[in-house]
Amino acid sequence: MTTDWEDHPGDRPDPSAFRRLPPVHALMSRPELTEAIEANGREAVVSVVRAVLEEARTAIARGVASTTLEGEDEVLSGVLDRLAQDRPSLRPVINATGVLLHTGLGRAPLAREASEAVARVASGYSNLEFDLDQGTRGRRSSGVAALLRRLTGAEAAAVVNNNAGATMIALRALASGREVIVSRGQLVEIGGSYRLPEVFESSGARLREVGTTNKTRLSDYERAIGPETAAILRVHPSNYRIVGFTESVGIADLAMLGRSKGLLTIDDIGSGAIGPGRPPGIVGEPTVIEAIEAGADLVLCSGDKLLGGPQCGLLIGKAEVVRRIERDPMMRALRVDKMTLAALEVTLRLAIDAERGARSIPLWRFLSVPVERLGDRADRLADRLRETLGMTASSEWSQAYLGGGSAPDAAIASACVRIEPPLPGRCSGATEASRALRMGEPSVVCRVQHGALWFDLRAVAEGDDEAIVQAIEGLVRA
Ligand SMILES: *Cc1c(COP(=O)(O)O)cnc(C)c1O
Repeated sequence: MTTDWEDHPGDRPDPSAFRRLPPVHALMSRPELTEAIEANGREAVVSVVRAVLEEARTAIARGVASTTLEGEDEVLSGVLDRLAQDRPSLRPVINATGVLLHTGLGRAPLAREASEAVARVASGYSNLEFDLDQGTRGRRSSGVAALLRRLTGAEAAAVVNNNAGATMIALRALASGREVIVSRGQLVEIGGSYRLPEVFESSGARLREVGTTNKTRLSDYERAIGPETAAILRVHPSNYRIVGFTESVGIADLAMLGRSKGLLTIDDIGSGAIGPGRPPGIVGEPTVIEAIEAGADLVLCSGDKLLGGPQCGLLIGKAEVVRRIERDPMMRALRVDKMTLAALEVTLRLAIDAERGARSIPLWRFLSVPVERLGDRADRLADRLRETLGMTASSEWSQAYLGGGSAPDAAIASACVRIEPPLPGRCSGATEASRALRMGEPSVVCRVQHGALWFDLRAVAEGDDEAIVQAIEGLVRA
């Protein structure tokens, strides 16, 4: 083993290198850090500066120091890099996947009016559980419950965290220790490993499966009814279709059967179109109004699927049924916060009128854009990418999807910008380029298909087209 430092100059600490490191105060007074100090506070920036200096000292002590670490400018650029990486882990994304209710990307975006309402109640006090008129304790969801009654004609409504929670609390309050009859063709997994039978059973109710995967008849339900039966449950097959030789029983017939046997009928419609106002172009999805009119005692749906509101679960139906659910102690564990209520109330007000909804609720607006307009936007974007960056870019017709467990087979006409690799610049392949775009600021998520990058415009606000071009430009120029 050799200890001859002269042969390995890099292995020996260089004492003068420590002295070349700038002091903390010198870095903190650099104008390049002013913005970061304003945004994150002085303490946070000082701790990043200290961490970077400490790493430089460790490197010098280990003999791996180099001039790239030591000077004030070098350390400063290390600090700026570190600050740039220290972004919030949850951040906005431009959704160019063509999947409108993308579960991975937060399902429905809120209307501007709804997010403003959230900001207003979030940053101050509100009358969340306070009756301003009487000066007494009030009820948290009374405002949205009244709106839901008005919108659907139902007697009562309650709100919980999400539709899975709505299902669980409903079965717990109405059927715990008893049986719930459900068709085998409706016991599915909805996504993110949300298996309906598992949620149902965690409620303490016992599932009584009837029929077969493809066919369930009214007589199957009828035969299964016994002294242990508490309810009949119908689940909307949100994210799949059984096609071919099939048969299922509609909610009207189930409700009639339930009524004649003194049983409750629960309809989990999942996607959450309220009707009469509903997203443009969506056909074949059940609405709360239809289910109530058909006689269901309770209808369950998500607030952030077709309704285009905040994540929550709505329980809408007979007063007596909703009251039993609200009295369940578990309700406390599932209740929504003031921000959700604020967003939901505004979204419901917008959704009352289909035209207003289509103007204000982003999901509805995306659905109502004529495909020709998307095509024009795609043409313009492709032209720019070709002309200014010399890319192999084209505009293509495509198919978008609702996603989020809604209308699984309904393709929505859309338009894409397609970029064929190799891209100029450091990320030439489609996979590397799509990663760099995801990691960028703003983050852009597109599709990689047949080795090309596809930017579907159906779920992209027109105002974000420019941001997509700039993200691609940034990739090439970096
Ligand atoms: C999406 C869906 C659920 C789950 O709703 P979350 O709001 O995601 O909890 C339950 N049932 C059906 C039929 C659905 O489509």
